[in-house]
Amino acid sequence: MSDKDFLQLVSTSGRPSAFDYDLSDWKAWCIANKLPRFVAGQIYCWIFQKNTCSPEKFSNIPLSIRETLIREFSWDLPIVDSRLVSLDTSEKFLLKTHDGHLYEMVLMPYDNRATLCISSQIGCKMGCTFCQTGKMGLTRNLTSGEILGQILLANISMAANGSDKTVSNIVFMGMGEPLDNFDHVVKACSVMIDPIGFGLSKSRVTVSTSGLIPEIQKLGEVLPVRLAISLHNADEVKRSAMMPVNRKYSLAELKKVLLTYPAPARTGITFEYVMIEGENDSIADAKKLVKFLHGIKAKVNLIPINRFPGIEMEASSAERIRAFQEYLSHRDIPAPVRYSRGQDISGGCGQLAAKRKEELDVDPRLIHQTRRKHKRESISEGVRGI
Ligand code: SAH
Ligand code: SF4
Repeated sequence: MSDKDFLQLVSTSGRPSAFDYDLSDWKAWCIANKLPRFVAGQIYCWIFQKNTCSPEKFSNIPLSIRETLIREFSWDLPIVDSRLVSLDTSEKFLLKTHDGHLYEMVLMPYDNRATLCISSQIGCKMGCTFCQTGKMGLTRNLTSGEILGQILLANISMAANGSDKTVSNIVFMGMGEPLDNFDHVVKACSVMIDPIGFGLSKSRVTVSTSGLIPEIQKLGEVLPVRLAISLHNADEVKRSAMMPVNRKYSLAELKKVLLTYPAPARTGITFEYVMIEGENDSIADAKKLVKFLHGIKAKVNLIPINRFPGIEMEASSAERIRAFQEYLSHRDIPAPVRYSRGQDISGGCGQLAAKRKEELDVDPRLIHQTRRKHKRESISEGVRGI
């Protein structure tokens, strides 16, 4: 965790968040407090395996240690500002950090599993032209505890609603560019896949990225979870116009790093391709895509673009999507069409912008300018009041 992020958390609650600690942090804490090391595993299991976030309930840990835990740490989960339920049963949670920033997660229950789409940052600095989160700009990274807090909250919410499900799949497709927050995201992922943490298999945790090449390489080396690449165009010039990241990390370099990523042989790498009328949906575009994917075990999700206030792009027509899809599948590239869940609550891919219900129809830029102004004013009033 960078000093800046640490200070942001500590300065609001006065104590570090217990959810930012992984097993090795708890071990270090036990050593510093002259406690047996196995206590570290007990605390960690209570939190991430049993989703129990109050030390009073840690029944196998002596009372004096529980009291120390209560005194020394913050045990507050993200605050639920509001919750919207879609007609398709997805739920979008608007969450608030302890320093007052809003972010979102989307819980998508299925018959036999539950997928959680989580955020890694407050906003995003990558500026993709077709994405509502990108219009917010970046406020700050989420800490690993704030990332994991989303899963804890989702599990607690399902249990409170009488469900016996827990989160079984995690996709980093909420707000933010996960690889722009590498250390916190990797720390959080390792708790997700740790058998005595959340215990998910590596294949059920997907990191989606716009293509930060050094970080893709590092992720492959330290924690090769599933990788999804937001590709959206296989032409260098056109991709750079849609996704500024391509000006720094070209398609040619992206391909090189993907060829070495240790993806599972069976599933390979997933590519997200937003279908935008007249922009990236012609057969010539499909041809370039096939060429780009040559040599990579790939699946392409075709996503008709989800719209938001202020966006001028339109989703491709059903015929164009079908023709594009057929071009890929005839060349042995699976290309399912994915309609995002939760669109009626602005919970689809690229629609997350931490808006309250009454703000859903407002241009995201306007909301975030106003929020930033209010934040500045309240800070300067606070300073004047000292
Ligand atoms: N920043 C990461 C993850 C968050 S975005 C990334 O870009 O991969 C999650 C997914 O939503 C990405 O695949 C992104 O390209 C896609 N997306 C963004 N805007 C969209 C829109 N308007 N309609 C459909 N998908 C969108
Ligand atoms: Fe950021 Fe991903 Fe949206 Fe691009 S698509 S602006 S990287 S959240």
